Amino acid sequence: MNNWKITCLFYGTLTAPKGIFCAGIDEDKVFPFVYSGFLLQDGKTNVLVDTGVHQDNIIDGKAWAGCPAVGGNRYVLDALAAEGLKPGDIDVVMYTHLHNDHAGGLALFPDALTIFQKDELTNLLNPLPSQKIRRDYDPRTPGDLKLLKNIRMVDGDFDMGNGLKLFKVPGHTLGGMAIQVKTEEGKYVITGDMPHIAVSLFPKLEKMQVLDGSWVDITPAPDIYGPYVFNGVIYDHYAAFDSFNKLSLLAEEFDPKWYLTGHDMWCVVKKHFG
Ligand SMILES: [Zn+2]
Repeated sequence: MNNWKITCLFYGTLTAPKGIFCAGIDEDKVFPFVYSGFLLQDGKTNVLVDTGVHQDNIIDGKAWAGCPAVGGNRYVLDALAAEGLKPGDIDVVMYTHLHNDHAGGLALFPDALTIFQKDELTNLLNPLPSQKIRRDYDPRTPGDLKLLKNIRMVDGDFDMGNGLKLFKVPGHTLGGMAIQVKTEEGKYVITGDMPHIAVSLFPKLEKMQVLDGSWVDITPAPDIYGPYVFNGVIYDHYAAFDSFNKLSLLAEEFDPKWYLTGHDMWCVVKKHFG
């Protein structure tokens, strides 16, 4: 079974109150949360997980929920170039989900094998009114998908047989997908936005690392919140609770260091895993 190396790729920032990701806790604390992706390499295959935000979704310097943002396809290309890669070198692109800030560079990789959950396509093509108002999905994405030559949709959990396992984790979207990655160090889990940041899975955390590498104080969730902290972008709380339970069993240990989330700054700071 292959061992993989993981590199976290920096695709830009979305400056937002922490409270937006965790039920209003620390509404007054504003951070440059990251757009990020992950490059997985086993010496033979280059796998890219998520492709950031498209520049057209940043209007007058603001993106989703009116938050100040920087990013775009240039960031994805630069992050790959920094690893000595160009889009044609990517063999497989996997999507944790198809939101505008995770699939913005989809059209950059027409020749790669592209993998996402079947139910994610359903959500993309049939967004709820609330999802349309917030423009969670980019109206460009359905058209971009037609440019891809090799799409494999999976329906549920799937063992790739090469040290990568895919797990369906709905709640934030219908077809959320986590990727368990076997490395020399142990099993990491790439979660996408289920959760967005580690505190949703680990409500009692008291510190969070920010982009300059320093650690800041954050407020642990009161006991009444229970085992997980939800947010306003979880559309199905029952599914999300099950997904959080499932995620808690997927990594080497139930410890934040094994969970590579969609928007945590520490992942970009540490950068290399496995
Ligand atoms: Zn999302």
